[in-house]
Amino acid sequence: MKALIKKYKERGIWMEEVPEPQCKTNEVKIKITRTSICGTDLHIFLWDDWAKRTLDLPLVIGHEFCGIIEEVGPGVSHYKPGQIVSGEGHITCGICRNCRAGKRHVCDKTIGIGIQKSGAFAEYLVMPESNIWPIHDSIPSEIAAFFDPFGNAIHSTLIHDIVGEDVLITGAGPIGIMSVAICNFVGARNIVITDINDYRLKLAESMGATKAINITKNSIKECYPELNIKNGFDIGLEMSGNSNAFNTMLNHMYHGGGVSLLGLLPESTQINWDNIIFKGLNIKGIYGREMYETWYKMTQMIRSGLDISKVLTHKLSIDDYEEAFSIMESGSCGKIVLEW
Ligand code: NAD
Ligand code: ZN
Repeated sequence: MKALIKKYKERGIWMEEVPEPQCKTNEVKIKITRTSICGTDLHIFLWDDWAKRTLDLPLVIGHEFCGIIEEVGPGVSHYKPGQIVSGEGHITCGICRNCRAGKRHVCDKTIGIGIQKSGAFAEYLVMPESNIWPIHDSIPSEIAAFFDPFGNAIHSTLIHDIVGEDVLITGAGPIGIMSVAICNFVGARNIVITDINDYRLKLAESMGATKAINITKNSIKECYPELNIKNGFDIGLEMSGNSNAFNTMLNHMYHGGGVSLLGLLPESTQINWDNIIFKGLNIKGIYGREMYETWYKMTQMIRSGLDISKVLTHKLSIDDYEEAFSIMESGSCGKIVLEW
């Protein structure tokens, strides 16, 4: 089968023929129809320090996908060929304390497809039945293809009580932008988002941000009078992975507020601890999606009218994968979906 693989320890990604994966006991084989490119895939493409220390090559990359079930292995009881599905790309052990307590998102033996094992940028993908998520008829495959990062946004956002609150989101990447739509949908008062990229800030505005601030030109404080904010923000969603953005957020949090840390901050990040201690902030690290409560919320919120379609800015054929990665690198995009 055709697959996009990271073959060499250098910049780039290559389309190659690889053996088709076999469907074993309790596994489901999916014919991939759509995939979406994640920032992680770009790190792999660029072969940055994170990629160098994390990956064993060669590797079929990718973890954002939608497809049709081709075959089910022995023991599979809930799915049949022909069903449209996506799936949770974090494969958990099922037996550790957290897994057995139903908290699979904090399994300490989590393995990610497209990172530690063969991924979804291929004609076929095999995964455990328990990781499959059925896609409702009313949800287009091109949206289901990026349920994985949509789930990051849902997980980061819904752990807070958003209703009537002032929310600050740092980073208007696809996840930040989808979080804007979610906060809007659940009834936040003000949603302020920052970035350094005007294209993305514009997109965030179109998804319902009250204020989209280019932090290289304007300060957050400037919007306080207009938005009637006196003491700062109640909820912070750090979605940039940038140390300065995180520090700015901490400066603007109201006492007793809640912060989700999704962006992957550099180890060298320094903060003023007073901001956390004396403000009594609740800081929560977010990894992946809650299994499978996040997937349930994603499905039902879209079915009840949450519209995230504007974040999908580019649709290309998989044959144009090189162009897709160069658009990703430019940053002038939301989600990019590739049709297989
Ligand atoms: P992205 O890289 O597309 O978006 C990050 C955005 O932050 C970019 O638009 C960038 O311009 C912006 N930014 C850079 N410096 C900034 C600053 N000083 N202030 C404000 N914004 C700034 O990423 P994404 O796909 O939307 O993901 C968001 C973050 O979450 C990334 O750091 C990603 O690595 C991380 N992530 C974490 C998990 C997890 O499970 N914890 C999962 C997926 C992604
Ligand atoms: Zn486990």
